[in-house]
Amino acid sequence: MNSKGGDLNWVIYKLSRRIVVKFGGSSVRDSFNEALELVQYLRENNSVVVVVSALKGVTDKLLALSKTGDERLFEEIRRIHEEISRKVGADLEHYFRELESILQNPGKFPSKRAYTDHVLSFGERISAELFSKAMQDEGVRAVPVDAFHIIEAYGEFGNGKVDMKGSTKRMQLLEKILERGEIPVVTGFLGNKNGLRITLGRGGSDYTAAVIGAMLNARAVAIMSDVNGIYTADPRLVKSARLIPFLSYGEALTASKLGMKALHERTIEPLMNRIPLILGNTQRWKLGTLVSSISSGFPLIVHRELKEKAEVSIINAVRIPGIEYPVVKKGANYVSLLVEKQELVRVLNEIHEVVVDEGLSSSNDSQLWAGI
Ligand code: ASP
Ligand code: MG
Repeated sequence: MNSKGGDLNWVIYKLSRRIVVKFGGSSVRDSFNEALELVQYLRENNSVVVVVSALKGVTDKLLALSKTGDERLFEEIRRIHEEISRKVGADLEHYFRELESILQNPGKFPSKRAYTDHVLSFGERISAELFSKAMQDEGVRAVPVDAFHIIEAYGEFGNGKVDMKGSTKRMQLLEKILERGEIPVVTGFLGNKNGLRITLGRGGSDYTAAVIGAMLNARAVAIMSDVNGIYTADPRLVKSARLIPFLSYGEALTASKLGMKALHERTIEPLMNRIPLILGNTQRWKLGTLVSSISSGFPLIVHRELKEKAEVSIINAVRIPGIEYPVVKKGANYVSLLVEKQELVRVLNEIHEVVVDEGLSSSNDSQLWAGI
C-alpha cells in the first residue's frame, strides 16, 4: 500500500474490522480448542479482542470460598485451573499466593463486599492468563489484560456499572496492543472503582464485551457459550423452545431487563442501534441469534424469581388467550404475570404452548422474514 492515503486506508480498514468475541465459562473449560480455533480464524480478517469469563463453576466456588475460607475449596479451585495450566504450560502460582494472602486479610478491605469482589476477580484473571498462554503456544501473540486497568466503574460492589467516559480514556491500552498486531485477552466481569476491584454483576462478562465493542467501534460483538443463542423460552425448562434467528435491540433490551439469563441486563445499551450482537455456540462455531435492527417477530417468554413468587414476561404478545394470571406490569410490547414459584415450569410450558407452539405453528420460515 504505497499509494497516496495508503496508511490512512489501512487504519480505516483496521478500525472497521474490529471484532470483540466473548467466551463463556464452559467455552474455556470444555470447548477450549474450538474457542482458540475460532479466534485464529477471525484474526485472518479482523483485529480481534477476546473477553473471557471465569471457567465454568469457578465464580460460584470463589464466592463460597470468600465466605468460608475452606481449604478444600481453595484446593479444588486450584485443581480445576491446573488441569488446563499443565496443558498450556502457564504458571499460576502467583495468583494462588495472592488469593491466599487476600483470604487471610479480609480486614484490609473497606467492606466485606469489596473483599468478596477481589476474591471473585481471580476467576477471570486466571482464565485470561490461560487463554492467552494457549494462544501463544499456537504462535499467536496474545496478551492477558486485567480489566482493572481499563474499565472504570462505579456503584455497588457486586453490581458495578461502567463509567464509559473514564474507561474510554483507558482504551489506549487496548488500541496499542491491537496496533502491534497482538490479541488482547481481557478479563470480563471486572472493573476498577477508585483503585479497588469491583465486579459488574453475575454474568457481567457480556456487559464487558459490549462496553469494549462500543468504545472500540467494533463491527460486531460475539457472545459465544454452550447454548446456540436466544430461545423463545429458557430451553432448559421448556423443551419445545425455538431458537430466535433475529432479535431487535429493543426486544433484547426488554428481555434482558425482565430476567432473561442469556444476556446480562446491561449488555444492550452500549450497542443499541449501532453495533450488531451475535450469540452463538462455541462448539461447531454455531451462530444462533443476531441482535440488530431486524426482528423475527417471535414471541419471547422470560422469567425471574422474586422473593416469594416468580414473574413471567411475554414479549411480542400482550394478549394471551385463555391464560389468566395476575398482570403485574405491562409495556408497549410485553406483559408480565405473577405466578407461584413451584408452578413456574408448568406455567412457562403452558404459555409457550399457546403463544409459540400454536401461535407459530401455521407459519413457515416466511416468519423469519416478517420484520425485514
Ligand atoms: N464469571 C462471572 C459469573 O459467573 C461472570 C460471567 O460469567 O459473565 O457470573
Ligand atoms: Mg452469561
